[in-house]
Amino acid sequence: MTEPSVAAALARAEQLADCSESPRLDVELLLCEVLGKPRSFLFTWPEHLLSASEQQRFEQLLARRIQGEPVAHLLGYRDFWTLRLKVSPDTLIPRPDTERLVEQALALLPNRPARVADLGTGTGAIALALAVERPQWEVVATDRHPGAVALARDNAEHNALSNVTVLQGSWCEPLIGRFDMLVSNPPYIDPSDPHLQQGDVRFEPLSALVAEEEGMADIRQIAQQAPGYLLDGGWLLFEHGYDQGEQVRACLAALGYDEVATVRDLGGNERVTQGRWRGK
Ligand code: GLN
Repeated sequence: MTEPSVAAALARAEQLADCSESPRLDVELLLCEVLGKPRSFLFTWPEHLLSASEQQRFEQLLARRIQGEPVAHLLGYRDFWTLRLKVSPDTLIPRPDTERLVEQALALLPNRPARVADLGTGTGAIALALAVERPQWEVVATDRHPGAVALARDNAEHNALSNVTVLQGSWCEPLIGRFDMLVSNPPYIDPSDPHLQQGDVRFEPLSALVAEEEGMADIRQIAQQAPGYLLDGGWLLFEHGYDQGEQVRACLAALGYDEVATVRDLGGNERVTQGRWRGK
């Protein structure tokens, strides 16, 4: 049995080498959870001893992580943008790449009152990040899954964001009126993609990850619906796979969107594509 010091507990990261891309960070987060302390504590007090019950709880969490369960599920939350969001197995776990979509949405619309909708909101991550940055925007979030709607509402309330409304329904269908911008991180992974057999995605709902037509089916469906819900000059923005930029641009151009362009994520991959709807 290892000595139950903070330093000894952190050294257990070694056991996550095969199942995680971030073993050290994972162990730090699990340990902080068990101790109820911030990460700085781990570096300041490496000799601090865990109590028997803390040690036991740490062992349980570590064992589940070794089995592949995502850290976000073990903790019950994931930090996204400036927000702490509750997560559940009903939705995708928010990813850092998606912050690129938030940045681009903020860059495209001037800082004055606007109506913006997030389609397939999941935890509410994108909608809530926009709402916290732009208190004068009216943000609407939709999701067809009741579990996601409840979670997004819970996250809005928890972060005291009163300018967000979460509605149940598929993509644009629950929206009323027209919007300055529609954003979405829809499922975009091809059903046969081997990526689905590895890591955290195995614990996330396929309905949030996978789309037919090489991952393009939902993007196409949303792009077709959106003109009925966009103001003249309104923007449509998608997150998509690193290799889908060309297909998404072609889809938007074929449907008559203008100013179609793609921006890259921090890894240098094409990640977010935008188009502008001119009332036709
Ligand atoms: N980027 C995520 C992944 O590769 C997928 C997100 C999505 O399908 N919308 O795991």
